[in-house]
Amino acid sequence: MSEFVCKICKRILKSDFCPVCKTNEVTKSWKGVLVVFDSDSELAKAAGITAPGKYAVRVK
Ligand SMILES: [Zn+2]
Repeated sequence: MSEFVCKICKRILKSDFCPVCKTNEVTKSWKGVLVVFDSDSELAKAAGITAPGKYAVRVK
């Protein structure tokens, strides 16, 4: 996989900079894709996600 993931919010990114956290604390060591459509869902709450988007399930 060639995409980056933000270490803080776990968003899957197209570049090595997270525009949400304004950080370059990113990693390529991640597994699994979690797509969140509704940030009020139990799934999002369990994962600590507050906004819809694509997230990594596991980040090193
Ligand atoms: Zn982030």
